[in-house]
Amino acid sequence: MLTPKSFSLLRLLNAEAPGAGPTLAAQLEIPKGRLPALIQELEAAGIGITRVPGRGYQLAKPYHRFDLAVWRDACVALGASLPIDIKKKPRQQTVLHPSVIHTVEDVQTPQSLTLEWAEQIDSTSSELMRRIPRHDIHGLALTTEWQSEGRGRRGRPWLGLPGGSLMFSLGWRFEQGAGFLAGMSLAMSVAVARALEKEGFTGIELKWPNDLVHRYHKLGGILVELNGDALGPSQAVIGVALNLVLPKTARGDIPQAVSDLASIKKDLPSREALLARVLLEMASALADYAQRGFVAFAPEWQRRHTYQNKPVKLLLPDGQTVRGTVAGVDASGALVLAEGSEVSKDSRRGRYTAGEISLRRA
Ligand code: ATP
Repeated sequence: MLTPKSFSLLRLLNAEAPGAGPTLAAQLEIPKGRLPALIQELEAAGIGITRVPGRGYQLAKPYHRFDLAVWRDACVALGASLPIDIKKKPRQQTVLHPSVIHTVEDVQTPQSLTLEWAEQIDSTSSELMRRIPRHDIHGLALTTEWQSEGRGRRGRPWLGLPGGSLMFSLGWRFEQGAGFLAGMSLAMSVAVARALEKEGFTGIELKWPNDLVHRYHKLGGILVELNGDALGPSQAVIGVALNLVLPKTARGDIPQAVSDLASIKKDLPSREALLARVLLEMASALADYAQRGFVAFAPEWQRRHTYQNKPVKLLLPDGQTVRGTVAGVDASGALVLAEGSEVSKDSRRGRYTAGEISLRRA
């Protein structure tokens, strides 16, 4: 597991010349003896380190930081109109013209799609949520190399690796309130699956409520957080994390079966190209959601659900387990579970809203 100290060490290393151990330890303000453990943490996170005898440590290959200009070019290559602004400093952001997002004129389409990059942050979603009282986050995306406190539902830790994960959050404003937005994390997982398919990844499926999976192994997740009035308007922060390259050593830190995009297809797109594809797909899906709600996504979501018509168990917050067969999802994104081992029109059905519930293979 990467820590703030090992991430700081990564920032000090490069692939051109070795850094001497004592100098690195002094810069990190740690005893020299702690350095090998930090080097090991980086190696476990998939960062290759070369030990140069008598001289110190260097990166086995250059670390590629996310490049906003490459992202902007990728958006343009996907049919986006010309960017209208690039502000590399001080906050490093790139702005695209709104027509790249959606052509329908409606109040819920932001004026622009803006991408901001932070080298390191506690959590991209936490940062956007913090900004809500003071800033308009509509159409603002924030990505990072590493999150020190990446999280999933109920605050459970999300493990992301520098260069090996795509991690970002997108802010969006809706005229409607929380009830209307209940199915949004499901709709967003459809958008991400569509984007991955367009990038040539096959066999991407969804797992209720908010996971992307491949052959029952978790590839990524979506976390939607809401702010605002119950009846609207409201702001949503949609956090997305995808595993690009997750080394075996890092998988051991995750208590469930996981996979990465590199296992599905050899030639991975760059993080910039992938983020361009995913963001444009999400923006278009969000505009659709604002007008039609989850109903517009439900059939496709069910088609992509890895457990559709399959037996599952649900782990409830009070420790109880409910078994049944997945009949589908309703118009709000709640899971519909049929009693027994198959779904028929006479089956008794229960409805479960995501909240605190986890779905597992039966
Ligand atoms: P479930 O519904 O299966 O209980 P979840 O959808 O609630 O899971 P989230 O809360 O979205 O899961 O994500 C947190 C969980 O995801 C962690 O508890 C961990 O098991 C798993 N996890 C953490 N990092 C990764 C990763 N990089 N890839 C896949 N899974 C991860």
